[in-house]
Amino acid sequence: MDTDLFVAWLEETARLVHRDRDRLTELDAAIGDADHGTNLDRGFSEVRKALAEGMPESPVQVLATAGATLIRRVGGASGPLYGSLFRQMGKGLESPVTLAGFSAAFDGGVVAVERLGKAALGDKTMVDALAPASRALALAVRDGVGVRQALEQAANAAAEGSKATIPMRARKGRASYLGERSIGHEDPGAASSALLMAALASVAA
Ligand code: ADP
Ligand code: MG
Ligand code: MG
Repeated sequence: MDTDLFVAWLEETARLVHRDRDRLTELDAAIGDADHGTNLDRGFSEVRKALAEGMPESPVQVLATAGATLIRRVGGASGPLYGSLFRQMGKGLESPVTLAGFSAAFDGGVVAVERLGKAALGDKTMVDALAPASRALALAVRDGVGVRQALEQAANAAAEGSKATIPMRARKGRASYLGERSIGHEDPGAASSALLMAALASVAA
């Protein structure tokens, strides 16, 4: 997994987030403040710009640039959370990047999100997509699955995890203010996390 793959991952994420901006905002309109799509579209387009200008030379630099840009440019809960995901992932990554190394670094990123947001599985947040993706990666490493298949399994786990937030009652973030009324809607942050993992699987395919 080389520098070009990590750059392609973030560029594809920017493309998918832009494509699905209105859908993400509509999900946030139902249980939040209707800005998740615009927040992330702005953030990832800034990431794309920063990567083009910075010409990072390693996967670690790519992730550090993405993390810092998201923290700086995205207001709201999701900016610092996604920023921490990438920053911590970058800190934990060793070169050359193997699937096992990526899996461990990704998990470190997810743990950073859980700590910062004080969120756990079942709280109806991005963690409900990210944690299953991380678990799928770890299982793929254990089973000796190839990179492409592993990333596809992670993307599937994130997509399923996001759909699984629909019947949940939110316990963190703005949606938690709605209590029972948060039930019946997919969490916008989980939906964007599923896009993030879909982007990675698609650039590795
Ligand atoms: P804001 O809620 O500040 O408007 P966004 O709309 O961009 O920010 O992002 C909302 C998403 O952020 C939620 O759908 C949820 O997935 C995620 N989120 C919010 N609070 C937390 C938290 N404490 N822990 C983990 N994720 C959270
Ligand atoms: Mg919002
Ligand atoms: Mg907001």
